[in-house]
Amino acid sequence: MEERGIGRPSTYAPTIGTLLGRYYVERKQSRLFPTTLGLTLSDLLTEYFPGVMNLDFTAGMEEELDAVSRGERGWVPMLGEFYGPFRDALDNATESMPRVRLEEETDEVCDDCTKPMVIKIGRFGRFMSCTGYPDCKGTKPILNKIGVVCPDCGGDLVERRARGRGGRPFWGCSRYPNCEFIMNRKPVPNPCPECGKLMVQMNRNTVACTSCSWQESSGADGASEPAGTSQAEELVGVGD
Ligand SMILES: [Zn+2]
Ligand SMILES: [Zn+2]
Ligand SMILES: [Zn+2]
Repeated sequence: MEERGIGRPSTYAPTIGTLLGRYYVERKQSRLFPTTLGLTLSDLLTEYFPGVMNLDFTAGMEEELDAVSRGERGWVPMLGEFYGPFRDALDNATESMPRVRLEEETDEVCDDCTKPMVIKIGRFGRFMSCTGYPDCKGTKPILNKIGVVCPDCGGDLVERRARGRGGRPFWGCSRYPNCEFIMNRKPVPNPCPECGKLMVQMNRNTVACTSCSWQESSGADGASEPAGTSQAEELVGVGD
């Protein structure tokens, strides 16, 4: 963004936050990748809003805004030049842009009718919906399984994110609310070699037992998340 003269240092982080929040991109090993949704949306917008969806427009707009803020350019004529063509493009898109349905297959089945479930994107984000819809209205939240078994009930442990600002990750049981197991550090698949209980990732390099004092350095692949949770010493009550 900096290279192309778009955005401002203060807008880089919020821009990336919006892209992640709307699931236009996803983070894998601390790099960003576009999702199918993001690619489809970008293709459609580029086709229907060629004047706006290009880097020259964004960079040019920011130069014009700077000119306005320096008092060299009136904002009314500037907006007028932008809005006329934009309104035409918007009218055209409203009429002829195709309505795209994006569904991702999953290996989950519906609890109600055992048909396979697909991931859909609704107003409140991504969720799993039964392929029997509209006959079956079964839905499930998307569970981010981490491949570790719940020490309390044998269910799958899943990664969740606290609501609201911060959005700190925490780990709970997929059988919540029936099982209320919760951890604010990431559980690891290998049990403690001393006592056989659950171990968690303490920081990038260390895993520790949740029951005894055993600690060991974790393998190269151990921590996928940066250890930026220094104040999260105690288990915080994270409502869902
Ligand atoms: Zn169903
Ligand atoms: Zn459990
Ligand atoms: Zn132990």
